[in-house]
Amino acid sequence: MQPIELQEQNISIHLPCKPFRLTSQKISGKDIHLYFSCTEDLICPECGAVAGNHGFRRGKKPLSAEPIPPYKRTYWHVTKRRGLCPCCELKFTEIVPFQFKDRHVNLDLARKICDMMDAPNANIRTTARILVLSEDLVRRVHKEYLLEVEANIPEPENVKYIAVDEFSILKGL
Ligand SMILES: [Zn+2]
Repeated sequence: MQPIELQEQNISIHLPCKPFRLTSQKISGKDIHLYFSCTEDLICPECGAVAGNHGFRRGKKPLSAEPIPPYKRTYWHVTKRRGLCPCCELKFTEIVPFQFKDRHVNLDLARKICDMMDAPNANIRTTARILVLSEDLVRRVHKEYLLEVEANIPEPENVKYIAVDEFSILKGL
């Protein structure tokens, strides 16, 4: 009989995390935690100048993301930079383009929630159970999406953020 080996497995996966990059990962039981930060120039949202980096801010709660099999839940931990603009002196915190509004969910998962909720006979409880999310999160994301549709604001699809990143998962852990 062949001994069972724990092998490092390279998985090529689309992570819609641009301009952030995956920096590390941690597996905890049935959950996988991915850590992101950005190394590109920090741009002042007010005047467009390149701003200085004056510290970091790790969100208290990670963003829920679409599950990566075989893990049940995927969490994205995003470290944002604090910027100080040398031109207009604006202090700001880096924007995370793949976060759905102020919710702790990324755009892909928000879109999936809304797709499922738009299906005939969909309900919050089933959607939450299938996606392993709280009913409260599903309710709030769908409500904000509907408000956005009503207000006729372009949907998240318009955001250009698709990136390809490779990372490895320790198989069997
Ligand atoms: Zn500025």
